[in-house]
Amino acid sequence: MSDPNCIFCNILTGDVPATVVDEDDRTIAFMDIAPATRGHALVIPRVHAPDLLSVDSEDLAAVAIASKRLAARAKERLGADGVNLLNSCGAAAWQTVFHFHVHVIPRYRDDPLRLPWVPGAGDPDEIAAAAQELARG
Ligand code: AMP
Ligand code: ZN
Repeated sequence: MSDPNCIFCNILTGDVPATVVDEDDRTIAFMDIAPATRGHALVIPRVHAPDLLSVDSEDLAAVAIASKRLAARAKERLGADGVNLLNSCGAAAWQTVFHFHVHVIPRYRDDPLRLPWVPGAGDPDEIAAAAQELARG
């Protein structure tokens, strides 16, 4: 249910302060302390799960719905021009807090964020090979 060593579980218990902006039966959302843009918030399930691959499916659905709610508010109330939802699963994917969460990052036309990869044509054989692995079983 809860991990006493987890910073986000400690936010849920009230032992660590946070600026909560939304909550429901399964989720809470609070402001990120190191925001990428104005209004950057995190949505988490109330029940501890380390990451995307371990989170309960109904909690995942609830987090997705709450993220949509906050994305709409970012556009309506903060004047965001767009929104990124981001989840990092695993240290190799930049995850630093191991309580599943979705970043809701309001985007503004003139904000400084840039894609972390350079889009370019892929090798068709390599794409096909990866697709074959992914499509298996
Ligand atoms: P990630 O790197 O995807 O695991 O995201 C973790 C996020 O949690 C980072 O954006 C941190 O700035 C944020 N964070 C860490 N500790 C806190 C905290 N006590 N309150 C709010 N946000 C936090
Ligand atoms: Zn936790």
